[in-house]
Amino acid sequence: MSLLAQLKARIAADGPISVADYMSECLLHPDYGYYATRDPFGQLGDFTTAPEISQMFGEMLGLCLAQTWLDQGAPETVTLAELGPGRGTLMRDILRAARAVPAFKPHVCLIEASAHLRTVQAETLADHDITWVDHIDDLPPAPLFLVANEFFDALPIRQFQRDGASWREIRIGVQDDVLSRGLGQAQGQPVLDHRLEDTQDGDIVELCTPAITITQALSHKIAQYGGAAVLIDYGDWRSLGDTWQAMKRHAPVPVLDAPGTADLTAHVDFECLAEAARIAGAQHSRITPQGVFLERLGITDRAQALAQNLADTDLDGHIAAHRRLTHPAEMGNLFKVMGIAPINTSMPPGLEI
Ligand code: SAH
Repeated sequence: MSLLAQLKARIAADGPISVADYMSECLLHPDYGYYATRDPFGQLGDFTTAPEISQMFGEMLGLCLAQTWLDQGAPETVTLAELGPGRGTLMRDILRAARAVPAFKPHVCLIEASAHLRTVQAETLADHDITWVDHIDDLPPAPLFLVANEFFDALPIRQFQRDGASWREIRIGVQDDVLSRGLGQAQGQPVLDHRLEDTQDGDIVELCTPAITITQALSHKIAQYGGAAVLIDYGDWRSLGDTWQAMKRHAPVPVLDAPGTADLTAHVDFECLAEAARIAGAQHSRITPQGVFLERLGITDRAQALAQNLADTDLDGHIAAHRRLTHPAEMGNLFKVMGIAPINTSMPPGLEI
């Protein structure tokens, strides 16, 4: 039975489902889920992420995390973790760049839901000793240096439309045998009380509960044991409106078309992540555009050094990659970076409180 048929059967039996339920099934269903069945990255896939554009992205993050470790007094036993590592490219580049600080010898842990991508990560990182865990709580009791790139945007969101002082949840049902969006009953939603300030009747807001839970867990670990997190994603402070989208072969497609075959994402609301960090007893940086962050870490010097050994189309590709990562009209502004660190320590380089 296809995923579409399974979803229709579920809706026929139990009624319309939330956007979050639909997203979870489409992305992570063990047999038909998007991440469970394919390697979606790169030119031949559906989208390209920063580490797949250039090795410089991971190199800057490797130096940033190793410097943060030095700034915190170079603790002996530490964990280096990544959420949603994709092909493992970012971690490979981080570990190569971090060799500039030879005493930094972290225990590397990856948190990955897709069994298929775990095998891809094992191949990319074959030269390293790696552990996979399911949850932040399974990480060792030690200082935690964590990175996540385009992880939070893949977590399931719920969507609500304002109706007076209440909210109606957007639900996915079946009409004339096709999936369609509808509205649930108007209800109070205490978690959305603060959104009554900046919305009007009919506005849509999104809520990503797993992002809050995960950020609280990692922040709690960092507050307790030390370390830092660098979270990179597309989005902004307090998102408003419907940001849910599907991508297939580098072009947008309707979110309800062919479930399980397109990448589904939503903008990350960094205010929610910041609040989760604060509640867990850690501090967070202000959000910094990716281009500014990478420039502060010295990506242009690195780009010039690498350019010395390149010519012709390789050089053109390298220059285009640098521009793509940093230019405000490309990824430089859309993507934001937020740091999380223990209270009374400095933020990772490139980020400010
Ligand atoms: N960071 C990578 C990949 C981003 S795609 C890069 O920049 O290229 C999102 C990644 O998160 C994939 O590896 C996907 O399988 C993983 N993922 C999605 N939802 C997850 C969840 N709930 N728990 C763990 N990993 C998840």
